[in-house]
Parts: sequence; structure tokens; C-alpha cells
Amino acid sequence: MTDLRTGVIGLGAMGAPMARHLSAKGFLQGVWNRTASKATQLAAELDTWHADSPAALAQQCDVLLVCVSRDQDLESVVEQSLPGLRAGSVVIDTSTVSPSTTVALAAVLAGKGVDYVDAPVSGGVEGAINGRLVAMVGAELTIFSRIQPVIAAFSAAVTHMGPVGSGQATKAVNQVIVCGVAEAVCEALALGEKLNLPRERLLAVLSSGAADGWFLRHRGLSMLEGRFEKGFKLSLLLKDLEIVKALARELGMQMPVVEHAAQDYAELVSAGEGNNDISGLIRLKKSKSGPGND
Ligand code: NAP
Repeated sequence: MTDLRTGVIGLGAMGAPMARHLSAKGFLQGVWNRTASKATQLAAELDTWHADSPAALAQQCDVLLVCVSRDQDLESVVEQSLPGLRAGSVVIDTSTVSPSTTVALAAVLAGKGVDYVDAPVSGGVEGAINGRLVAMVGAELTIFSRIQPVIAAFSAAVTHMGPVGSGQATKAVNQVIVCGVAEAVCEALALGEKLNLPRERLLAVLSSGAADGWFLRHRGLSMLEGRFEKGFKLSLLLKDLEIVKALARELGMQMPVVEHAAQDYAELVSAGEGNNDISGLIRLKKSKSGPGND
């Protein structure tokens, strides 16, 4: 029997495929999700246990792996798990939250002898489904060595970045690039439409040269076809950019790219488009490119 019996909390676009990989590699002990129907369905699919509560799941696990939306959601599920957590258990958070929330939660859990690991991920829903995520991990080194196989079950690369909080700090850096690239690609493809360039050939040329990148290759065609349903909700990227903005304020740093992107996503969220993939930004870019282009 493994000493890494793992329970998964948060079975959304990222958490559900992570749970599938953990099941395939023999780690999965059970699941819990706020909307219970998702947990019962996944438990039936994976022939695993659907716990009644985070605490009940924690009681039966050595590791709790969490993937929820925002800081306050993470705080809420950790609080609900507390009665079931025992000394020696490990909580691994794969959500994207602020480093300060991470450090505060780690201190609360340390009071109970529970170890905390921040392991935010990059690679999109495709990366989660294919088990090819890139994990950036903040943890005490001995704890990292112990739980690394759990994260490796759904990752192509697992990198220890330093103490607790370093994973989320790295993710903040990552999201600056993600938002900047999305701004550039969406603006570029809006220009391509305006110039009436042939779609497929444009994408093929761009992705063969210096403009190539993950976002262009994975979202270029779908955004030009007006499909924004899958992937990374733009309301979640806006949440990440608020985390980056807070870090920039603390450090006295100006980040105009992030400021601009956050304004764009806030506008889209206000227009009711928060559940669209971040490539939905092209709609805003097109709406600002003159009449007849949306
Ligand atoms: P999602 O599909 O919206 O799923 C969110 C999950 O969090 C759901 O299981 C939801 O439960 C749960 N949740 C939200 N608030 C909760 C609360 N107060 N209490 C308990 N559970 C709660 O989001 P996602 O795309 O999987 O993203 C999850 C995290 O991964 C986010 O922090 C995101 O920034 C990060 N991330 C996402 C991607 C991506 O490409 N999607 C990539 C890297 C990182 P319900 O089912 O009840 O709503």
C-alpha cells in the first residue's frame, strides 16, 4: 500500500483530468467536489470513492491535492478539511493563488503538523488531459522529494523552485508572459482579419517563424473561427493578473502590460464573457478595430 493515498478536491477543467491520471498511476483514494454531481460521476468512472466532505476525504488520505478557483475558495476547502487532517499529512495546492495566501495557509497547517506544498501548473486543459503539465513547486525539500511522484503523475516536468510560496511566485511570473502573449496574438490576428488575409495560410506562416508559440498553435484557429468554449476561463486569468498587480504594488514596480491586459479582461467579464477561454480577447480587439470587423 502506498503511503501517498491521494484525495482530490476540485474536479473542474484541471482537477478532473489530474484525478484521472492519479487513478491510472494507483494514487487515487477518493474525490470531493462542491457540486456533488461532478464527484459522483467521476467516482463512478474511476471506480473510486466520493467523500461526503473534505474532512472525510482528508481522514482517509496521506495527501490532499486541491485544484479550486481562487484564494478564498482554497481557504474555504482547507478550513473544511482541517478536522480530518492529521500530523504527517500533506496538502498540495495546484490552484493559482497569491504567494501570501499560500504562506498563511502553510502556517495554519504547520500548527497541526500538516505539510503544505504549492504546486501551480501551466500547460492548459490539454496539458492536464495529456498528463503533460509543467508544475512549479514551493516546498521544504524533504517534503518535495516525498510527494514529487504524486505531481509527476500528471506532469511532464516538476521543478522545485524553493520554499513554500515560491511555486505561486513563479506562476505569477508565468502569467505575465501568458497575458502579454495573448494580447499580442489576439491583436495580431484581429489585424490579419482586417487585412483579409487567408486564415489557414496566415496561421501556418506565423507558426513556422519567430512568432510561433503555444497560444498561437493551440488557440489561433479556434479563436478565428469564433470558438472560445474550451480552456482557461478569462475570469481566472483576470484573477491571476490581480495577484500580479498586488505583487507589483508591494515591490513598487510598474507593469503596464499587465495593467492593460487586466483592463481588457475586466471589460470582457463586465460584458458577461468571463467563462470564455482567454482567446475570447480577440473579440475585444476586433471590436476596437473599426466597423464591420466583429
Ligand atoms: P474550473 O473548471 O472553473 O473549476 C474550478 C473548481 O473549483 C471546480 O471544481 C469548483 O467546484 C471548485 N470551486 C470553486 N470555488 C469553490 C469553493 N468556494 N469551494 C469549493 N470548491 C470550489 O477551473 P479550472 O480551469 O479547473 O482552474 C482551477 C485552478 O487552476 C484555477 O486556480 C486556475 O487559475 C488554475 N489553472 C487553470 C488552467 C486552465 O487552463 N484552465 C491552467 C493552469 C492553472 P464546482 O464544480 O462546485 O463549481
